[in-house]
Amino acid sequence: MTKIRTVEPFVVSHELEREFYFSQWKYDTRSICLVKITCDDGTFGWGEGYGPAQVIKSGIEFFRPLLIGYNPLEIESLWQMMYLRSLDYARRGILLSALSAIDVALWDLRGKILGQPVSVLLGGRRRKSVRTYATGMYFTETESLSERLAQEALGYKEQGFDAMKMKVGLNIEKDIENVQTVRQAIGSDIDLMIDANHAYSLPEAIKLAQAVESSQISWFEEPVSPEYYSSYSQLRQTTSIPIAGGECEYLRWGFLNLFQQQCVDIAQPDICAAGGITEVKRIADMANTFGVDLVPHTWGTGIALSAALHLTANIDMPGSRLNNAEALMELDRTENPLRDELVQPTFSPHNGRLQVPDKPGLGVNVDEDALTRYLLK
Ligand code: CA
Repeated sequence: MTKIRTVEPFVVSHELEREFYFSQWKYDTRSICLVKITCDDGTFGWGEGYGPAQVIKSGIEFFRPLLIGYNPLEIESLWQMMYLRSLDYARRGILLSALSAIDVALWDLRGKILGQPVSVLLGGRRRKSVRTYATGMYFTETESLSERLAQEALGYKEQGFDAMKMKVGLNIEKDIENVQTVRQAIGSDIDLMIDANHAYSLPEAIKLAQAVESSQISWFEEPVSPEYYSSYSQLRQTTSIPIAGGECEYLRWGFLNLFQQQCVDIAQPDICAAGGITEVKRIADMANTFGVDLVPHTWGTGIALSAALHLTANIDMPGSRLNNAEALMELDRTENPLRDELVQPTFSPHNGRLQVPDKPGLGVNVDEDALTRYLLK
């Protein structure tokens, strides 16, 4: 049986042509840490971590000695080794993004070794394509922000998306104006979600939710700090808008908190941070046990997108009926050549849907020329 020979992290980076911001900070550069795991026989798999790329790179180097010489198919054993090695100081956070990147690469490898797509190895495809929603409508320095957001929203509608998400969290009055302008522009037959990136206190979040209920909002994401579990559950009692969250949550125990305290209607683990495909499959099973929807958070290259696509193709939705309840995943539409050029094939949605790759593993590959081009020197 082949054994793991090398574990190589790569940090890629791109300075954006147009910077944008959300309620917490400004983006002028996109940086991502990838990992390539190669075996004795030359077979390799790619993974990716979500979060500060240089720190994730150090995390991968920390875990590397635990992996060399092991059978790559024993993913849960390797996962457990990394988990136990980091438990004393990393029950949340960046070291788990490093673990996640490695786990995703091991799943890619597993698929290539066994000649099967990841979604099949997860237990089967409930669906061959997945509905996506467009993530965009960030803040920019523009004279008429609400009009610019409405134009962007119309662009997504023209591209065939029937679901999209916009940022809120500037201030309540401005948010209300932006949401109403966007809703008016796109009409009533498009799902529109709002994301505050935990900008608000509980009273502020309640105020905003009540003010935009009439704008037909499909979910309110990260309304308050991820530390305030009881604020999440209290907010849920005051509004008919479904509440979403979980991109800052880690491991099944973090999500157990969200579920037991009835914080969210929609759980949003990031596969490249919350513990990899192995752990998010467990989280998806737990979400289903609690009757909570799961819509993965994604913010990265085609590796992260493919991991989310395979998992979303596999999961059972809580609703049970003859016409299987629709699964949904996030598709970042902001400027990002690391997403569009680094990984082949590029994920191009058709009518807002992405086909689940058929090739073994994740079904994507890193363009080595593009990797050299974007590699942080
Ligand atoms: Ca978000």
